[in-house]
Amino acid sequence: MALATVNSRAQNGLQADPVAVEVHLSPGLPGLSIVGLPEAAVRESRDRVRAAILNSGYQFPNRRITVNLAPADLPKEGGRFDLPIALGILAASSQIPGQALHDLEVLGELSLSGEIRPVRGVLPAAIKCSKMGRKLLIPEANLEEAQLAGGCELKIASQLGALCAILHGEGLASVPPRQRPPAAISAPDLAEVRGQYQAKRALEIAAAGSHSLLMCGPPGAGKSMLAVRMPGILPPLGEEESIEVAAVASVSANGFDPQDWGRRPYRAPHHTASGVALVGGGGQPRPGEITLAHHGVLFLDELPEFDRHVLEVLREPLESGQITVSRAARQVDFPARFQLLAAMNPCPCGYLGDSAGRCRCTPDQVLRYRSRLSGPLLDRIDLQVYVPRLDSAELTAETPPAAESSTAVRERVIRARTRQLERAGKTNAALTPNELQRDCVLDEATRQLLATALTRLSLSARAYHRVLKVSRTIADLADAATVSAAHVAEALRYRQFERDAAG
Ligand SMILES: [Zn+2]
Repeated sequence: MALATVNSRAQNGLQADPVAVEVHLSPGLPGLSIVGLPEAAVRESRDRVRAAILNSGYQFPNRRITVNLAPADLPKEGGRFDLPIALGILAASSQIPGQALHDLEVLGELSLSGEIRPVRGVLPAAIKCSKMGRKLLIPEANLEEAQLAGGCELKIASQLGALCAILHGEGLASVPPRQRPPAAISAPDLAEVRGQYQAKRALEIAAAGSHSLLMCGPPGAGKSMLAVRMPGILPPLGEEESIEVAAVASVSANGFDPQDWGRRPYRAPHHTASGVALVGGGGQPRPGEITLAHHGVLFLDELPEFDRHVLEVLREPLESGQITVSRAARQVDFPARFQLLAAMNPCPCGYLGDSAGRCRCTPDQVLRYRSRLSGPLLDRIDLQVYVPRLDSAELTAETPPAAESSTAVRERVIRARTRQLERAGKTNAALTPNELQRDCVLDEATRQLLATALTRLSLSARAYHRVLKVSRTIADLADAATVSAAHVAEALRYRQFERDAAG
């Protein structure tokens, strides 16, 4: 047989589209040409495949070899197709039985010695194979990740020579399926943070309704300490969510670590992060921080220091839960349903409002500093809370008053979320204005309170809806069926910025 086809899969965002690797041997000038890969990838792949075949004790055919990766218009990275190309060449030159490959899909990079190396993005491919009822042959080092897909018949190999010997003999056995490991849910405990009751309360409300939260306060007040504890008070990830999180990590630059199965992501990019690092992109589009934070927490410390244009890009995913990354003629969609936590100093020096009167900033400087955050972005942040520095008595107290553990807070968060999902099928942060009107019926006194506050704080229509959503969540945390004046009054306390602006 001078023609062989091996099935494989490309990686395109979180898609794993099928690719047929066709190998044809013909008489003519000996050589290997690969159609459908970028030039640089072709060169590298050609060298690896040739050396791996020779070093595994097989012949590299002294013929004209044409490899075609179809369809032509998919993005294709070189490495993952090494193994399918090598198997195709060996089958086309009758050095291995071709029928052994018929019902398989194959992924794997080769070393010059014939070792089969792990590749990125195995989980999305395994999920697809599982849905299509296909068998998947992968590098042994990718097994743990691929098994998370569940229901996909997996075969593994670690050496090209050994793999071919098995294909000649008894054939390739499937790996027995494995239970998914228990979810990793370790996060630092909220009980370790002293004081800061209002900030902790805001964090709990944010977690309960999946609201975005901005913490404003001087350096050293503990804003980052609070933020990093957010994943620990969120409900555990569901099975589907865990798979989505793992699939995102699987196609990222660092790959997926099976130790992180079931862990809510927590991402805290530095304010010097580029737009591409934050939202994703690149020649082979990779997920950015907002996608790596999918189903988890994105913490932006020193919010006004971020590039304004970069922050503006956050507005779309904050509404839609996904981001479209365009590159030349290609578009890739990545999920980006993250919970936004942000922090900032109250003024350039950080000490505005400090009781020791350390701030030397002029009102003009303070205004300029704050105006770096656009109104539309602030409008999209549901909760704003001031986080003061603890006084020395609170800091040095030998036996601080017992603080609640993350586990206790999470219990309330889960109950409040359950109420939301049973009532509306979604969290309060995601309610549309119409749904809000249905689920947030106010009595006359409460309506009056809200109307007065609206005028006094000159809230936009969007900010008004955010106050209502937060009120609904506060009521849910209190197991209350209706939203009362007390709930609305508390929600209004978390519009710190309008309050300041209104003086
Ligand atoms: Zn200052």
